[in-house]
Amino acid sequence: MKQLNDKFGRPIRDLRISVMDKCNFRCPYCMPAEIFGEDYMFLNNKEMLSDDELVRLTELFVQVGVTKLRLTGGEPLLRPNIIDLVRRLAAIPHIEDLAMTTNASHLPKHAAALREAGLHRLTISLDSLDEQVFQSMNGYKSTVAEVLKGIKSAENAGFSPLKINCVVKKNVNDHTIAALARHFRDTPHIVRFIEYMDVGNLNGWVMDDVVSADQMQDILSAEIPLEPIAPNYAGEVARRFRYRDGSGEIGFITSVTKPFCGNCTRARLSAAGEYYTCLFGLRGTDLRAPLRDGASDEEILDIISGVWSRRSDRYSELRTSFTKIPRKGAEMYRLGG
Ligand code: SF4
Repeated sequence: MKQLNDKFGRPIRDLRISVMDKCNFRCPYCMPAEIFGEDYMFLNNKEMLSDDELVRLTELFVQVGVTKLRLTGGEPLLRPNIIDLVRRLAAIPHIEDLAMTTNASHLPKHAAALREAGLHRLTISLDSLDEQVFQSMNGYKSTVAEVLKGIKSAENAGFSPLKINCVVKKNVNDHTIAALARHFRDTPHIVRFIEYMDVGNLNGWVMDDVVSADQMQDILSAEIPLEPIAPNYAGEVARRFRYRDGSGEIGFITSVTKPFCGNCTRARLSAAGEYYTCLFGLRGTDLRAPLRDGASDEEILDIISGVWSRRSDRYSELRTSFTKIPRKGAEMYRLGG
């Protein structure tokens, strides 16, 4: 396996696959309900990559150095036969880590089967424990109880520690982050507080709505002092902290105030087969067409390698230098964060 690096010497190591563009939530910062209504045309089964196509592409990405997979969406558990797909991806040689990001609403049904199929880790989105706040942040499609039930079924299935992702927006849920942190203290689970980002083109992002990680840290340290801890590996997305009293770990994902492009080893694949080299990429590369036009593995590997070796993305480092936020190539729900 020949390690493939980009223009900055960053290896391709992580592949984030959006296995489904549909979602049962309508989080305003990702899939605002006023745009994604009942009649919104999501990908049909023919437009979506099949399991065979996803497995083949993943095997090719592994040949150039990918060892970590993250399954995302939309909501990945809405994909038909998701358990079979997880089983096949988990069986690919050289895959060291297979994780999934989910809104947890379908975990009671799938958690045990995901574990048995070979899924290693789960990350669960939960923006607040305050019922009114949480519902306003998921488009009134779910309840705190439903997500906590999903978390329980994940624990019962043996997933631990869980990562809990919380997107923090000023004057929306920042007043509830301490309660969320408190809820998961003294558990093995790790809450990661995410700075609100200008992903896609639909969430009306402005800098004034951002609560910086430093501000979040001040809010949380007021209760229990925090201290930084070393990353688990180079390129880890979250900045790790632990409570000085030993009651657990939390993290901050600081794309806006402390960008981490320097170590970014993440490629992304949409459910329609678009290959992106950055979450904020202006355009992707279509891999579905060559796949379906009978291209050989070598031809597709040439496309994958060519795109990555020409990569020079560092959007988050450049964000504050833009006078006007540029238009993005893909919405969050198509690339899955
Ligand atoms: S902005 Fe793009 S290059 Fe920077 S860390 Fe995010 S995905 Fe990677």
